Amino acid sequence: MRASQFLISTLKEAPADAEVASHKLMTRAGMIKKLGAGIYTYMPMGLRVIRKVEAIVREEMNRAGAVECTMPVVQPAELWQETGRFDKMGPELLRIQDRHERDFIVQPTSEEVVTDIARQELRSYKQLPKNLYQIQTKFRDERRPRFGLMRGREFIMKDAYSFDRDQAAAKRSYEVMSQAYRAIFDRFGLRYRAVAADSGAIGGDLSEEFQVIAATGEDAIVYCPDSEYAANMEKAEALAPAGPRPAARQDMKKVPTPGKATCEDVAQLLGVPLQTTVKSIVLATDEVDDQGAIKGSKLWLLLLRGDHGMNEIKVGKLAGLENGFRFATVAEIEQHFGTKPGYLGPIALREKVRIVADREVAVMADWICGANEEDYHLTGVNWGRDLPEPDAVADIRNVVEGDPSPDGKGKLAIERGIEVGHVFYLGTKYSKPMNATFLDEDGKPKLFEMGCYGIGVTRLPAAAIEQNHDERGIIWPDAIAPFTVVVCPIGMDRSADVKAAAEKLHDELAAAGIDVLLDDRGERPGAMFADWELIGVPHRVVISDRGLKEGQLEYQHRRDAAATKVPAGEVFGFLK
Ligand code: ATP
Ligand code: MG
Ligand code: MG
Ligand code: MG
Repeated sequence: MRASQFLISTLKEAPADAEVASHKLMTRAGMIKKLGAGIYTYMPMGLRVIRKVEAIVREEMNRAGAVECTMPVVQPAELWQETGRFDKMGPELLRIQDRHERDFIVQPTSEEVVTDIARQELRSYKQLPKNLYQIQTKFRDERRPRFGLMRGREFIMKDAYSFDRDQAAAKRSYEVMSQAYRAIFDRFGLRYRAVAADSGAIGGDLSEEFQVIAATGEDAIVYCPDSEYAANMEKAEALAPAGPRPAARQDMKKVPTPGKATCEDVAQLLGVPLQTTVKSIVLATDEVDDQGAIKGSKLWLLLLRGDHGMNEIKVGKLAGLENGFRFATVAEIEQHFGTKPGYLGPIALREKVRIVADREVAVMADWICGANEEDYHLTGVNWGRDLPEPDAVADIRNVVEGDPSPDGKGKLAIERGIEVGHVFYLGTKYSKPMNATFLDEDGKPKLFEMGCYGIGVTRLPAAAIEQNHDERGIIWPDAIAPFTVVVCPIGMDRSADVKAAAEKLHDELAAAGIDVLLDDRGERPGAMFADWELIGVPHRVVISDRGLKEGQLEYQHRRDAAATKVPAGEVFGFLK
């Protein structure tokens, strides 16, 4: 491929609405282009990455015995009425009408359609097990689309559905998928963790999420470094004892923090994970006396980021500040949350936001809070009195770093992750309401036992970038890079030797099946290198007259600090 033929459109500036590295860099590298909130064009450079993700997913799914099909994006409402999801699902489900005013939905996932296929096509136990999958466009009208491809409204998902005779067989199908997912995620070259997830009322324990480890991840994952235990926070909390944590009271400490600290900075400085809290906001007042009592009417808000993006918005709006530290008065907070004036007790707001302040105080231990002095923060803050509303906090289940692991094998650690895959045993959740049956060996109809398995195909590249980038741009793992090698000739228009050598190398690499791009745009070296560092191509070969005279090319991996001179014939060795 030649750069002059391809579409390369890099930008100096990130879009104003981009908060995380992947969104900024994918836009700046010309990989995606926004069309509307949560709706993006996959530009040629980005699509190459997506296609590589798909190819790996497809290969491993096929290897695991799944069969590919493509189900419609637009689906008649009738099927969704059979399971009740047409009414139950809420605004995330996009409902549309055709010219005859018949109801349709745009698929957020496809259990109904695939179950309908199964009840028509899979008539006998002899046809089981069966696993059908598609790699297809999905639409979810997310409450808060953000972070570019990470949480889009339109996105690509690989969704697979297994059909089995009985529970034991369904569990085997689940295990096959769980293993296939490990094979898939191993191939992407990312650090990830498979964690136990909540499977809801049905399905017992058979639900796992595949989480790419990244500080910007929206999910908290709880794991034990000394054992296999790993779960998402929801699941970990469900296992933890209820009620406020016993007050492992430490003395409050005043700790200096950097002037313009973000939540992450402070948490790191204090050696406290961001998820220490109840996914919440911590408030503290402007005055703290020697005994650690808290008084006063001005509050620092330190937002300890949790799973609930909405809280961040509320606090952000409230304070109008961009960094992790927010400043607001009690009155503002009361007004914002609609709390009775003069009463800021522990309030169990929707989504479990709890606010604790100075007037009515809660038994809550070891908060981190601002000290109302620029550059200082407090650890181990405790409020002393009884809870005015014990019921409001009865369901608090905090899991914090250092808690004993449920398997008794060590202490828990917490890190953040991005959910890129999810495997789930469904049982008869869909086959029952849709009366999807097959004839079993005894000649009697039986409900299918099902499982469903998703991978966020367009979220994966964003997750890869969150984990692999630097100040210059993206650093793709080879497996999903848009191009594996870029050949950068210097002065190609002036030097016939450079031109010939560049074209020869390009053709040889291409013939060897390596994804190579020749940058024949005639850009100056600085601009050309900046582009490729931004786009994140892992291997770069520079060809110049000066080098050719010595019989040398310059090779540089995207992670290398400097280039290495390589005899022209030996470039291949560096690409393995
Ligand atoms: P999340 O918790 O992030 O909202 P989910 O649990 O709702 O995701 P699933 O229904 O499990 O998502 O869908 C399977 C996979 O599809 C997810 O693991 C994720 O990788 C991907 N996915 C879900 N929602 C989105 C989205 N809005 N944008 C991009 N990918 C998504
Ligand atoms: Mg979701
Ligand atoms: Mg989820
Ligand atoms: Mg999920």
